[in-house]
Amino acid sequence: MSADVDSPAAEEQTALSDFIMVGTDNAASRHRVQKISLKYGAPLISAGVNITVAKDEDGGRLLVDRSGEVIAIRLGDGYRLNCLGRIRQADMACESHPEPEVRKKTLALGHVGGALVREPAVKTLNAMVAALAVESLVNQYDENMVREPVVVVESHDGARMCPDKSTFAMLETGCASCL
Ligand SMILES: [Zn+2]
Repeated sequence: MSADVDSPAAEEQTALSDFIMVGTDNAASRHRVQKISLKYGAPLISAGVNITVAKDEDGGRLLVDRSGEVIAIRLGDGYRLNCLGRIRQADMACESHPEPEVRKKTLALGHVGGALVREPAVKTLNAMVAALAVESLVNQYDENMVREPVVVVESHDGARMCPDKSTFAMLETGCASCL
């Protein structure tokens, strides 16, 4: 089934799900999916990628980040994507700006930080992150691996996969979204 995250059909489908996996491209849609997850008590796995480039000394592009991550949030974990800094209120405000032109520009940007690139080729990175998301889902049931709520894949200066502990060191408790 394919449906807009705001549609009743999407809510009906996700309400019947044991787990929800979200991999959408903007804050508002992730927030919407998280709301459904909380409303119906379905745990959430969020997967996303990031590419950031900077200018090198010769004015060329320098890849500084090419990474992805998978976050698993079970019922009762006590945090949400907002507290982890993965959904920002300011982004949602821009995405729902009353001026259609601002909305359009906001949504068109952001594929690659530091460069105006609309649709980067992130196929291999996406494939790694998608595989990791499935691995995380399976592990929710068989618990063969030590549970790590946030796992990061990096591939800009050598490939590696590691749990992200720093996110929890910065965990925002009592954040506005959870009050
Ligand atoms: Zn929160």
